[in-house]
Amino acid sequence: MRTLSGIQPTGNLHLGNYLGAIRNWVRMQDEMEGEKLYFLADLHAITVHNDPAELAANTREMAAALMAAGIDPAKAILFNQARVPAHAELAWLLFCTARIGWLNRMTQFKEKSGKNREGASVGLYAYPVLQAADVLLYQTTHVPVGDDQKQHLELARDIATKFNLDTGTETFTLPEPTIPAAAARIMSLRDGNAKMSKSDPSDASRINLVDDADTIMAKIRKAKTDAEPLPSEAAGLEGRPEARNLVAIYAAMADESVDAVLARFAGQGFGAFKPALGDLLVETLRPIATRLGALKADPAAIDAALEDGAARATALARPTLDAAYAALGLCR
Ligand code: ATP
Ligand code: MG
Repeated sequence: MRTLSGIQPTGNLHLGNYLGAIRNWVRMQDEMEGEKLYFLADLHAITVHNDPAELAANTREMAAALMAAGIDPAKAILFNQARVPAHAELAWLLFCTARIGWLNRMTQFKEKSGKNREGASVGLYAYPVLQAADVLLYQTTHVPVGDDQKQHLELARDIATKFNLDTGTETFTLPEPTIPAAAARIMSLRDGNAKMSKSDPSDASRINLVDDADTIMAKIRKAKTDAEPLPSEAAGLEGRPEARNLVAIYAAMADESVDAVLARFAGQGFGAFKPALGDLLVETLRPIATRLGALKADPAAIDAALEDGAARATALARPTLDAAYAALGLCR
């Protein structure tokens, strides 16, 4: 068994990243057999963001944030993608396996490129293939991700299957997504139909893990809702995306079912629910922010952890990269 997942070192870790992905990374780190690899996807970040000084700082900052959230470099292999060239190397080989028609179906490219599709980078278009390389490079079996990455993981499986078939080899293992049953897709606080995202220009749309108590309370107070009181069970949230999102956040943070939360708040309006949700978020996120402050005081320790992680990842990647070159008849 091998577990792998990544996150783009752009902006701050937000509640969607935490509940959809990172909290699962920590649980799997502590509970699963086999190696766990968690990486900062800096090669993915350059598909859109371009301030070099900011990217370098964000990479360290995100590594520290992951450690503050519970990733332990002694238990998991923590590294940044750019330090392990095998990712970019395997991506090229897989570009030649992936089909243009497959990439044309990726909904995230359509969302991220928006109206300016012709002006988007080739990297943004092709990034699911690099993501397939990230996963396949390590014979990964389990990939803890949020629901938005499901389609990309299916693409990775298609690429692996075609590569194995085309070359008559068993070069790659087919990975399985591990998507949390609850909170797999946390929505924006401003729009219950849009995913909470680092790249949303409005900071009020998300709770960042480093937001202070006043900011969290203010963002929850201003979060979009409707005028109805809360129902007594989950079915009553149908057609109320903002209400459903806030209740889902409460349930996930408290590790309770949506029905259990609603049993407590049934009949109450958001005037009562929002302060309770705000308090819960402040209390649960405070220890992470405190640990992050301490970790950031020692940037040399973060760099040392990333360097060590990259060396271990490079060694683990080697046999698969060699096998992929050999399967294609490439001499090196
Ligand atoms: P960007 O907008 O730059 O793509 P992001 O917020 O989507 O940033 P990523 O680095 O792309 O963050 O994703 C990191 C992990 O967080 C992935 O596993 C992804 O599925 C998960 N994730 C991202 N947003 C959400 C969300 N709103 N709810 C649940 N999981 C999420
Ligand atoms: Mg994303």
